[in-house]
Amino acid sequence: MAALLRAPLSSGVQLASKLSENESIDMPFAKSTISINDRRMKQCKSLSTGLIVRGLNQSNRRHLAKASNDSMDIESTTVAENKVVGRNQGIGGVEVLKNRFLEFKESNYLSNSKHYEKLAEAQEPKYFVIACCDSRVCPTKILGLQPGESFTVRNIANLVPPYEHGPSETTSAVEFASTFSSIRDIVVIGHSKCGGINALMRNSGDNGKCIEGWLSVAKSARITTEAAYGYLSFEKQCQHCEMESVNSSLLNLLTYPCIEKKVTEGVLNLHGGYYNFVDCSFEYWTLDYRPELEGGSKYGFKNHSVWR
Ligand SMILES: [Zn+2]
Repeated sequence: MAALLRAPLSSGVQLASKLSENESIDMPFAKSTISINDRRMKQCKSLSTGLIVRGLNQSNRRHLAKASNDSMDIESTTVAENKVVGRNQGIGGVEVLKNRFLEFKESNYLSNSKHYEKLAEAQEPKYFVIACCDSRVCPTKILGLQPGESFTVRNIANLVPPYEHGPSETTSAVEFASTFSSIRDIVVIGHSKCGGINALMRNSGDNGKCIEGWLSVAKSARITTEAAYGYLSFEKQCQHCEMESVNSSLLNLLTYPCIEKKVTEGVLNLHGGYYNFVDCSFEYWTLDYRPELEGGSKYGFKNHSVWR
């Protein structure tokens, strides 16, 4: 069956404009000062709500957090204030994330308020994406997934344990995802140079207890790869295993009664994906599950394509 399973290798503005370089503004809240001269902004703390909303219209204000506990002293920075200091100038660490969040808010959230108001009520994701933790593999970025569009779980080596594995973050995510009638496609995404798969193939036992235990989920993919491609270089074997493990995960998805039922009913499709960030290509294939088939494999693949 391994051969059959093998897929081919192969994301306040007005305030700034009215100020000169050396001006500063006392904000209408205690401890709130914006210093323009040194491009440094002190954190704004309000006395009551913890929020600075000047410069935003009523609609935008509704989107700000409603933290109003008088006993709390909440630091807050607005989109407009962020613009005043100039983004990303001589900053690092979490400050970068703050600026990116505020930029997202300004350019995306506030300008698509109706969409986000709807999302605040409920999510109806179209996809369930299972990807690796690897920082180079960002499914929302490479596939252009927007907030509300994809239910996502990421783990070491993008593995899906079988149903019998029991509770884990991934198995619970699979069960949760199955409750969304809006999800019609599950995509397991493997990738090039996967550290998790490399460790799986090395099988040295020198990883941490948790890593070793997790990687054992894909033991069959390693064995299959070694049997079929043991003559290849270790790097090539890893490449094959990166795909074999995706297929193993697709089959494991079928061990979940809630998933198998939907796939059989034709309301859910299981897809494999392989993101090669070395040459920036993406292979895609679909699991062809035919439970009614007698005397042959119930599994196959279709719709294979490579996006370059
Ligand atoms: Zn990986």
